[in-house]
Amino acid sequence: MLVEQTRSILQAIPSLYALLTVACLLLGITFADTAPKLLTVAVPSAAVLFCAWRYSIWRRASKFEINAETARPMLLRMEFVTVMLCLVLGAWLWSLVPYANPTQKMYLAFFMGLTGASVTIYAMPRPRIVAMTLCTTFVGYIAIFWFDGSPLYQLIGCELLVVFITFYNVSRGVARRVEQGVLLQTQLLAGHRHATALATENRALALSDTLTGLPNRRCFFEDIENQFADSHGRTLPIVGLVDLDGFKHINDVFGHAAGDAVLIAVAERLQNVLGTHGIPSRLGGDEFAFILSDKNSIREARCIANDILDAVSAPIDLPSGDKGRVSASIGFSSPDFPVNVATDLLEQADFALYRAKEMNSGTVVEFSGAHADILRREHNVQFCFKNADLAEELRLVFQPVVDSTSGRIVRFEALARWESPELGSVSPVEFVAVAEKSGMTSRLTSIVLRKTIDQLLVWTEGTKISVNLSAQDIISEDTTDGLIELLETAPEHVRRRITLEVTETSFLSDFSEARRNLLKFRALGLTIALDDFGTGYSSLRYLQELEFDIVKIDRSFVNALCTHEKSFGLVSTIQQLCRNMAIECVIEGVETQEQLTMARRAGCRLVQGYVYAKPLESPDASRYINGELQFPAIRVTNVDSLVSVA
Ligand code: C2E
Ligand code: CA
Ligand code: CA
Repeated sequence: MLVEQTRSILQAIPSLYALLTVACLLLGITFADTAPKLLTVAVPSAAVLFCAWRYSIWRRASKFEINAETARPMLLRMEFVTVMLCLVLGAWLWSLVPYANPTQKMYLAFFMGLTGASVTIYAMPRPRIVAMTLCTTFVGYIAIFWFDGSPLYQLIGCELLVVFITFYNVSRGVARRVEQGVLLQTQLLAGHRHATALATENRALALSDTLTGLPNRRCFFEDIENQFADSHGRTLPIVGLVDLDGFKHINDVFGHAAGDAVLIAVAERLQNVLGTHGIPSRLGGDEFAFILSDKNSIREARCIANDILDAVSAPIDLPSGDKGRVSASIGFSSPDFPVNVATDLLEQADFALYRAKEMNSGTVVEFSGAHADILRREHNVQFCFKNADLAEELRLVFQPVVDSTSGRIVRFEALARWESPELGSVSPVEFVAVAEKSGMTSRLTSIVLRKTIDQLLVWTEGTKISVNLSAQDIISEDTTDGLIELLETAPEHVRRRITLEVTETSFLSDFSEARRNLLKFRALGLTIALDDFGTGYSSLRYLQELEFDIVKIDRSFVNALCTHEKSFGLVSTIQQLCRNMAIECVIEGVETQEQLTMARRAGCRLVQGYVYAKPLESPDASRYINGELQFPAIRVTNVDSLVSVA
């Protein structure tokens, strides 16, 4: 309040002194002929000098910051100067009275009342100054004019009293409004401060992981961007990714509290090892990361990564009193390979981590030249695939699934082949992975499906074809609906001859969505096969709830079929299970007669693999369909030998 009062009076000071200067000069001129020079020249000149002096003081004061401490003495000084000014002016007027004729006397009374009132206008927010000025003026007026004997001066005196009281009341009103304004401003300021503090706190929370207190994924990404920008592409920071092995086991066996304890301990150890070398972050789950500043060499990075491995693998005290143990796989970027954007560093680290996890647990892998070549090739394939005329460049080959007891072809699996004008022939393993990584599978699948429908319209009614779907095709409703639209253009007898092959991984991210979408295909009359069974979770729940029509045992079992009794047992059990559940079972990747024999012994009747045929071009497949060529029927004579009957 004091600050506000001081500010508002200070603002008015120049005009106030200008007013006083003019008033004094005019009064001096009015009495120039009648009063002595001391009163008409010296006093107004002194007043002008005084005003100029005060004005310069205020000018300086207005440059200083006014706060609660400086405002009070300033106001006190203002009050003192005002009263003194009133007294001096009063004395001057009083000394002029003896030289005044009646008109001049009236002018003096007018001067006194008006100047007193005008001065208060400038000090309105401070009622004390207003009261002091008005009181001094009024007392002066009474002293000089009341006893003059003329009732006119007494009437003017009464009028002045009323006006002065009104001025004082107005001043109090102004002061109250200023006070309310100040209060409001203070509240607003407090509110603003509170909001700013909350925003800062929120940002800190949004950027840190609540469990470990480490910076979180979002913060990590911001840090990479900042450090990359600071490096100006010269000495790059090193980005490391740390993935825990064995964490899930601790969570499952000892519970979530133990899992939390492990994460907190790992976070502390990361901080200890990194020290001033870099910042650790928790990206989520059991994934951590670190950024080493550009001051660290790649040698130091290697040492730090190995120290992290050692620190993480030390036993951890669990809340239950047990000791927990986890290990880590670490991949980190290398400043030796130029990057265009900050996320390229992350891609390098991610790639290296992927390689580390492929090796034994507890490995550190640094991004290398060989990795750079693979990544470059991946980017190349991705670029070409994105810009390819897939309808033109993709073609299908067909690998038969054969009923080994009769040699009859049960169906063909359509497998895509891509002949890129820039890259030549690209393996499906490569381009399917790229399409999946860059979210372009729906384009691939719809073209394969279109070509499959066209092929089925050409081939005789009994021929069936299965088509591979990617995970993204069935977890995205939009993609599924697009494929359904395409399938609806095909006649029903064609749709009934199409099988969709899906893998277990398709159900991992969103089981219910994938299930809903699969049912839509099924409602159109398609059959559904579970591909690569045995490589994922091999969940019986999937088999039961998703009501697959066909299960395809992955080819990784085939090799072991001849050498490992357990594999043999497993295949024969899956086969038996499928039979009990009325699910058709196909064994994939059978290459040799020996494997075929073992597969048959394990109960497998339907076989797909090089032992019968590699994927065939459409005209070659047609020769089997129209009976020009056929596969041998094999029957079992005894458990050890199979005889070809065709
Ligand atoms: P998949 O679905 O498991 O397909 C079977 C793969 O095993 C085919 O490889 C096939 O040529 C190969 N194969 C068949 N019999 C044998 C054998 O006796 N020994 C060996 N070593 N391999 C055998 P291909 O054509 O290279 O396809 C590889 C993978 O690419 C496929 O595995 C499938 O996952 C994917 N793929 C191929 N075409 C498509 C497609 O149109 N769409 C999608 N989404 N994926 C496709
Ligand atoms: Ca397949
Ligand atoms: Ca397969």
